[in-house]
Amino acid sequence: MFEQSISTLAQKLRNKDISSVELTRLFLARIAKLDPQLNSYITVSEQRALEQAATADALIQNGKGTSLTGIPIAHKDLFCTEGTLTTCGSKMLNNFIPPYESTVTSRIQQAGAVMLGKTNMDEFAMGSSNENSFYGAVKNPWNLDMVPGGSSGGSAAAIAAGLAVAATGTDTGGSIRQPASFCGITGLKPTYGRVSRFGMIAYASSLDQGGPMAKSAEDCAHLMQAMAGFDEKDSTSADTPSEDYLANLNAPLTGLKIGLPKEYFGEGLDSQVADIIMAAVKEFEKLGATVKEISLPNLQLSIPSYYVIAPSEASSNLSRFDGVRFGHRCDDPKDLLDMYMRSRAEGFGTEVQKRIMVGTYALSEGYYDAYYLKAQKIRRLIKEDFVKALDEVDVIMGPVAPTTAFGLGSKTSDPVAMYLEDIYTLSVNLAGIPAMSVPAGFANGMPVGLQVMGNYFAEAKLLNVAHQYQQNTDWHLQTPTMAKGA
Ligand code: GLN
Repeated sequence: MFEQSISTLAQKLRNKDISSVELTRLFLARIAKLDPQLNSYITVSEQRALEQAATADALIQNGKGTSLTGIPIAHKDLFCTEGTLTTCGSKMLNNFIPPYESTVTSRIQQAGAVMLGKTNMDEFAMGSSNENSFYGAVKNPWNLDMVPGGSSGGSAAAIAAGLAVAATGTDTGGSIRQPASFCGITGLKPTYGRVSRFGMIAYASSLDQGGPMAKSAEDCAHLMQAMAGFDEKDSTSADTPSEDYLANLNAPLTGLKIGLPKEYFGEGLDSQVADIIMAAVKEFEKLGATVKEISLPNLQLSIPSYYVIAPSEASSNLSRFDGVRFGHRCDDPKDLLDMYMRSRAEGFGTEVQKRIMVGTYALSEGYYDAYYLKAQKIRRLIKEDFVKALDEVDVIMGPVAPTTAFGLGSKTSDPVAMYLEDIYTLSVNLAGIPAMSVPAGFANGMPVGLQVMGNYFAEAKLLNVAHQYQQNTDWHLQTPTMAKGA
């Protein structure tokens, strides 16, 4: 049951082969049994889940609901959920029970989905390995000694191990795509503004975007149907109608123009990963696509510009955590300053503190022009590279990450090596375009994701491209051994 798609499960619920309460209990039992090995959940909201499942069963009984009604899913612990602990992976929010619901979780709830719980993540979404969580590292279900990727590693691991049918994630610089790649699942980072950020705890507001993570492109499309669309509560939400993400999944790919950026296949890319990506591209050629080499000349500048812009925005966003209105407060503060300083020093982990310091420095008078302004100018160049390339081709393909999942602890003492992990994903956020990670093979037993990038608001096209590939391959259907037979 846990390996099945949203469409199949929706059909089973409609046929009364199983009720949502039974299905939810099945997933809760799997979480209790397998999650101690993975640590993919911070909170399991059993009571909320069973109540929602009962409501879903009643709707289905009356012939109502959507394809998500009664389907057990999980949310990254960065989306505010009314009445349910929302920690953002931080000690700072260890006691935060939001008084309101984020737009994304609210829309998914309105569509009738059941929330199993909140998934583990890097603290404040800062990381590429899920080792920065206050609640402990998440393990990769394909090999428990490996990282699941980050920052949405809990969502990715939970889906790969069958501890949720699908989940939400957020992507500021790769946090949906890279864990999807490392755990062998499918993830979509939508165009900036397509999915509301209301109720998403902010990391870097001009880059953050929520999106679906699931086993297949089709399942991601089901989630997008509910999540996407204008929201007046988010001033950066795109005021254009969202598409029907399911309608064109089966459109043929004849004549699809694929661009392969030469900079994505250079130094640093693992040769086995490169071979897998090229094999996937060949598969698209068989489906009628044509391939041409393109260039994204400013790719190398994406890491330095992102690691100025993101910490700058983070330093501003995270200033609200001062121990006054909500979040962690130190014991017995001497005075106001002592309270601010100790609450923040105790509540934030090292990576978060490091980024707040970098960001504060980059924004300070005298350095602003040299760092922040310069980074914004580079961001513009990166965007123009994509706009130019996407004039010539329909989609751009390449790897999601230079390697497969790496060993737990193997990069924690080398921040530069960790930041290099993001080389193929950051530029997409800087440009604001949509991109997906699609399972495309295995190297040394670990999954490899193909990245498919598209033009602004071309989510339906990306899902169509990924779905056609998944109709002809079975990489997305593989299950890690630890999840089998449980
Ligand atoms: N790894 C990147 C970072 O640490 C991206 C994280 C993300 O997308 N949230 O900032």
